[in-house]
Amino acid sequence: MGTIVCQTCNNTIDYFEDEKVTILYGQCNCSSCEQTEDLD
Ligand SMILES: [Zn+2]
Repeated sequence: MGTIVCQTCNNTIDYFEDEKVTILYGQCNCSSCEQTEDLD
């Protein structure tokens, strides 16, 4: 199973089907992430 994790706050955003354990990093829509949007 694959997991999508927020790279800013480490919240689990979503899951997706995968043969192996995979972690992808994205960004969720929480307020703290919006505030740190410019740090990338
Ligand atoms: Zn977040």
